[in-house]
Amino acid sequence: MSLMESPLYQDAVKQLEESASIMGLDPNIMERLKYPKRALQVAVPIRLDDGTVKTFQGFRVQHNMTLGPGKGGIRFHPKVDLSETAGLAMLMTFKCALVGLPLGGAKGGISVDPSTLSRQELQALTRRYTTEINMIVGPNIDIPAPDIGTDGQTMAWFMDTYSQLKGYTVPGVVTGKPITVGGSLGRAEATGKGVAFCVNFAAEKMGMKIGSNTTVAIHGFGKVGVPAAEDLRDQGAKIVAISDVSGAVYNKDGIDIDKASSFTKRGGLLKDLPNVEHISNAELLALDVDILIPAAIDGVITEENADTVKAKMIAEGANGPLTKEAIEIIAKKGTFIIPDILCNAGGVIVSYFEWVQGLQNFFWDLDQINSKLHDILKDAFENVYEAHQEYKVDMKKAAFIAAFKRLMRAMRYRGLFPG
Ligand code: NAD
Repeated sequence: MSLMESPLYQDAVKQLEESASIMGLDPNIMERLKYPKRALQVAVPIRLDDGTVKTFQGFRVQHNMTLGPGKGGIRFHPKVDLSETAGLAMLMTFKCALVGLPLGGAKGGISVDPSTLSRQELQALTRRYTTEINMIVGPNIDIPAPDIGTDGQTMAWFMDTYSQLKGYTVPGVVTGKPITVGGSLGRAEATGKGVAFCVNFAAEKMGMKIGSNTTVAIHGFGKVGVPAAEDLRDQGAKIVAISDVSGAVYNKDGIDIDKASSFTKRGGLLKDLPNVEHISNAELLALDVDILIPAAIDGVITEENADTVKAKMIAEGANGPLTKEAIEIIAKKGTFIIPDILCNAGGVIVSYFEWVQGLQNFFWDLDQINSKLHDILKDAFENVYEAHQEYKVDMKKAAFIAAFKRLMRAMRYRGLFPG
């Protein structure tokens, strides 16, 4: 597959071009942003438990590093390819710029179904991949993190392998590590907490008060969906529906989130959750609720089902859950959409805190982390809202515009080498 072939890359470029033309982004800068700075494809051979050798395809793409070292997750998923990884790296550039981090955009991954590998095979895969990309990562170059199919254990193996190669411990090479090997308090729930903060900022603009009359539906009850549900429940909101890949559940009086999350954390599927009404994922997306949080995967609301969505506010917890066309249809109805690069930026913000703590070997307490997370997201939200009003565009385009403003200034100051 060529670099620009995937729908995700093409969608990212389309959004870049549209928002750039609305704000009058310097065409020379737009031209540079359309392509990644560096893309590395590697073969990752490992010996399987049965003694045979299997080779997987791995990638690491650095899109733009004007603002600082690259930052972005590592995804283990069968659909990972060079083009999708490049598109996701581009979105990371815009996300980091939007929330004002001194970081650029990167992404990586291996085309593999991790559920088919044993723990030992996964460890071998991670360590060999680290070795193959080690020349382009590092605490001052590019700092990976977990993404779909990877977790704190993967990051610990990555950090250990990189440290073995260097001869000393380098905690700042990855984020999302377990706390005992240099992880940060608050990182695991940061994305969901950030979603809940953004819901509150949006509610304020809409004159909506989050309380016992507020109804919420959450599509995707995982690492993002669960903490978002917990925070909004703690504020008094009623989480009336949640879903996972197996289906959705509904209770008009509110679902017991603690029971549901301990059920799914033990490996249960929501289709088997007792004492709730079972509905489909499509029905959940069409519920007449105040707030809908799509926090599962990309492309769940498209021009096909956009008309069925009745929520007053949509908080994009996942990356790209609404297609560009769906956003245009829904925004016209007056629905408040909190765009993904703002709404789910809590994860990369606390990853940034983890990186800083790792470089200083000095660790912060949870209150400090959550209050800094709140303040950074609040500033970013206000910048997006300002662009939304100034340019009279939907919040998604506004988020791109706010990100480009910062990036454009930095790229102009740094100039083009060799000039
Ligand atoms: P996860 O694997 O922990 O949870 C995903 C949830 O979605 C699970 O409940 C799963 O069953 C469900 N799901 C998967 N496919 C589905 C489908 N086809 N229909 C309905 N439900 C489905 O993943 P996560 O870390 O919570 O990530 C979710 C999304 O948020 C992804 O788009 C990810 O890129 C994005 N995101 C995650 C983070 C983070 O810190 N975890 C940060 C930024 C963005």
